[in-house]
Amino acid sequence: MRTRLWVLPATTGTAVAFAALLWAHPDGLPIQAVDNVSQLAAALFGAAAAMMRARRSAGRLRTSWALTAAGAASWALGQAIWCYYELIAGISSPFPSLSDAGYLLFPVAAAVGMVVRPSRALTGRARARTGLDVLLVVISLFAVSWATVLGEVFHVHADSMLARAVSLAYPAADLAVLTVVVLVLSHADSGERARLAWLGASLASLAVADSGFAYLTATGRYHTGDLVDAGWVAGFLMLAFAAISDAPGNANNARGNLTPPSALLLPYVPSIAGIVAALCRLSLAPGDSVMVVTAAVMVCALVVRQAVVLLDNRSLMARISHQALHDVLTGLANRALFADRLDHALELHRRDMRPVAVILVDLDDFKAVNDTLGHPIGDDLLMRVGERLRAAVRRGDTVARLGGDEFAVLVEDDGDPLEIAERILGSLDNTIGIGEHSIPVGLSMGIARVAPEDSATTASEILRQADLAMYAAKRDGKGHVRVYADTLALGEAADLDRRSAFALDAGAGRIAMAFQPIFRADGTLHGYEALARWSYLGEAVSPGIFLPIASGLGYTTLVDETVLRHAVRDAAGWPDALVLSVNLDGKTLADPAFAGRLSAILADAPFEPRRLVVEVLESNLIEHDEPAMATLARLRSLGIGIAVDDFGAGYASLARLQVLQPDIVKIDRSLVQGQGDRPDGTALLRGITELARQLGATVIAEGVETQGHLSTAIAAGCDAMQGYLLGRPVLAEPVVSERLSATVDRASAM
Ligand code: C2E
Ligand code: CA
Ligand code: CA
Repeated sequence: MRTRLWVLPATTGTAVAFAALLWAHPDGLPIQAVDNVSQLAAALFGAAAAMMRARRSAGRLRTSWALTAAGAASWALGQAIWCYYELIAGISSPFPSLSDAGYLLFPVAAAVGMVVRPSRALTGRARARTGLDVLLVVISLFAVSWATVLGEVFHVHADSMLARAVSLAYPAADLAVLTVVVLVLSHADSGERARLAWLGASLASLAVADSGFAYLTATGRYHTGDLVDAGWVAGFLMLAFAAISDAPGNANNARGNLTPPSALLLPYVPSIAGIVAALCRLSLAPGDSVMVVTAAVMVCALVVRQAVVLLDNRSLMARISHQALHDVLTGLANRALFADRLDHALELHRRDMRPVAVILVDLDDFKAVNDTLGHPIGDDLLMRVGERLRAAVRRGDTVARLGGDEFAVLVEDDGDPLEIAERILGSLDNTIGIGEHSIPVGLSMGIARVAPEDSATTASEILRQADLAMYAAKRDGKGHVRVYADTLALGEAADLDRRSAFALDAGAGRIAMAFQPIFRADGTLHGYEALARWSYLGEAVSPGIFLPIASGLGYTTLVDETVLRHAVRDAAGWPDALVLSVNLDGKTLADPAFAGRLSAILADAPFEPRRLVVEVLESNLIEHDEPAMATLARLRSLGIGIAVDDFGAGYASLARLQVLQPDIVKIDRSLVQGQGDRPDGTALLRGITELARQLGATVIAEGVETQGHLSTAIAAGCDAMQGYLLGRPVLAEPVVSERLSATVDRASAM
């Protein structure tokens, strides 16, 4: 826990000192004033701490703490009235009085507050058992209370109904609070339990003090300064400590579906106390019919509960054996079960040559999801991917999660692994929506099959082959499927050659570029985006491949600057109105010397800074935050435009957009092209467009490939567009095509 360390010793010390003071009761001390005012102060402190915690929490936790704070404040009010009677009016407080209303509201508010705390949802038999537990705890506590306080209080005050009701209300409310505390504690998972322990202890201390007070008052023995008063001070101090330490950071997101062992025992503790209380009471007053009935009900509830627990244990055993072979998160087979099934399949293959294949599936960029959106979202994503995998395979195929973001499918009989792989890709080609996030999911897959004549392949060999194929697929630029072949091993060597060739070329500035036109909605040419190009052995290599190579070599900034230098030189010869857009990596922007070099490049050409736009990926800025933001600020002061690239592709957040204040927002092609036939795709595009424009940015739609995309983008209010329909990237010299601008004209006239 990251709680401030001084709080615990300070509160404990104060509580102990106060109890000692009441105990010692030194002569000459105005004990009545000290006691009353201390209680008032402790309650106010508790209320303030709970309020502070409520303000810093959200959702149900906030409501819970707000209720607790209100309850403590109400108690403080009651105490203030009490103080008025005893200290100012100088009379002993009448009973019942308004102060009782204030006192009594506290246990009610605290119990409700405890119940509304976010907790695990219970289902089926667990709910039935919890119901029985509630019953048991209530009866047991009732028995204890009846034997001690409740019974006693019930028999006095026979004179006034109101007085009897109020004095009964104290132990009854305490009973309710204690029940809630026991139940919430017993069903919380371990992390939540640690957070709740102090709150529980505080409410228990207050309840005991309260009942003690009710008992002493009923029997006419209470006087201000009695030791029970220490229970209140200690209780409210603990409440304050609980509030201070109940920070969300102390939460634990353990996915505890199994009931913690202590929860199985907990209901028995009050039961034993209840039985002991019943026995004591009945030995003193054998005719107490309330106690006889209570004891009978308690025994029945215990028997029924025992039966339910037995049934529960049976299904628990089944669940445990299931868990040993299944992944807890996704419910898919785990590595052990997968290996077992694979062994078995290979056995059958050896006997009657039944085909066997393994598909290894790996999520692309899963780490980025975990890092930017957090592990709970990452877990959700894995679960959703698991569901989709299961939906994409045939009935008999085994789907397993081997660990991390790696899944595997075992294809037996005559299933075609490639077809299954395509189906998996098809089921995941867009994004998965989790809460407010829409996360792009890319999968890379490697397939290994066992040849019919091959009878020697082992499980580990076939897994290794699938793994190799999977890495080859990743090298192909992610989102690919590769089938293992012996030549793949050669591919790795080729990869090394390609890497060194790139290093040579990039070092010598041999990075080419292409220009892709950007058109305004009215059909006029707005400018060009420069895109890096590189080819190896006469074939163009996609930037999706050579940029990661460059990054691995530490050449990212070099590539960016090479493109920038070439592009600016070309663009210096363009008509004045045309804008040049270049892509810059976050690493480049994080280089503190970059802005200076950029100014020099612009001065050399010469090229006016206001005609230059730099495009940055928002996701890419996160890693290089502070220095990159400083560079952007400098570029902005030079008059250079800032564009956020691929907005809406995944990690887009409005908060970041507001911080960046870009001049241009380029909307990712996944949004422009729509998610399949989803009708809300357009609405989303329009929403984002409007929002960006409200921030004062110009909006460019990317990936306009068809007339449909074009009219969608125009209808959504985009200011400009870019895409294959309007013009593909063309190596070096830009070409303005009459035909393409005519296309835009037609579309905008629609
Ligand atoms: P980007 O900045 O989003 O660039 C647009 C990409 O979309 C380009 O791919 C372009 O060829 C492609 N594209 C254009 N119109 C269409 C269309 O209608 N449909 C489809 N499907 N695609 C279209 P490219 O050239 O492969 O570049 C990929 C990415 O590489 C770029 O995405 C950019 O993020 C990065 N990149 C390119 N050049 C540089 C550079 O010099 N420096 C840095 N840091 N990154 C660069
Ligand atoms: Ca771009
Ligand atoms: Ca883009």
